[in-house]
Amino acid sequence: MTDFKLNMSAIKENLSRVLEKIEKAAQKVGRNPGEVKLVAVSKTVEASRIQEAIEAGVSILGENYVQEAQKKIEEIGRPVSWHFIGHLQSNKAKHAVRLFDMIHSIDSLPLAEELNRRAEQSNRIIRVMIEVNLSQEATKFGADEKMLMNLARGIQRLNHLSLEGLMTMPPYFDSPELSRPYYIALRTLKERMVKEGITMKELSMGMSNDFDIAIEEGATYVRVGTAIFGPRK
Ligand SMILES: *Cc1c(COP(=O)(O)O)cnc(C)c1O
Repeated sequence: MTDFKLNMSAIKENLSRVLEKIEKAAQKVGRNPGEVKLVAVSKTVEASRIQEAIEAGVSILGENYVQEAQKKIEEIGRPVSWHFIGHLQSNKAKHAVRLFDMIHSIDSLPLAEELNRRAEQSNRIIRVMIEVNLSQEATKFGADEKMLMNLARGIQRLNHLSLEGLMTMPPYFDSPELSRPYYIALRTLKERMVKEGITMKELSMGMSNDFDIAIEEGATYVRVGTAIFGPRK
């Protein structure tokens, strides 16, 4: 009982620290903190601890693995919105469409087309973002910058997907300031694409160690795991 209470207050306290930092970062650059949505990243976190986060006020959960998420969603249900943020394989598209309200990590047109086909079958519209690979040597997932416009135009033609924005994940740096150029690059790409006729407004960028920097550079979704749930096992 005591342990449970300690745990509970840890998540609650962590969450309020994160929310405070979001507010400060937004205010620093004159943004409305309400523009920044927090995705609590719950990969490897057990359902009971996710429940604590929900009770503390979390309203969007981010998961990286379809099967792991499916179990949790069955148990927890949908008092919250579930987002998929990991690498998605086409053969999981059917489940992804059923489970998630938003997918942050579209990286190819074949994947988008398969999601669209499945979304059409279940008569749903799925909100998606394109994951951009800005650091080719350091990460393997995400669409190549050169393919972005084609991919975005392709997605816009799909009636059951709604393109909402761009997502990226820089390589890990000990110093969060080193992520800043990647976040500036993603914002600049989005602005350029909007000028060229792609309608979208979201930027999914920033994790536990650097979400304040990402907010200063325009993030509308930050994906925060460790700073809320503690280190993953
Ligand atoms: C795990 C993960 C996060 C959260 O990372 P933390 O450093 O724990 O905040 C964010 N985005 C993606 C895509 C992830 O896989």
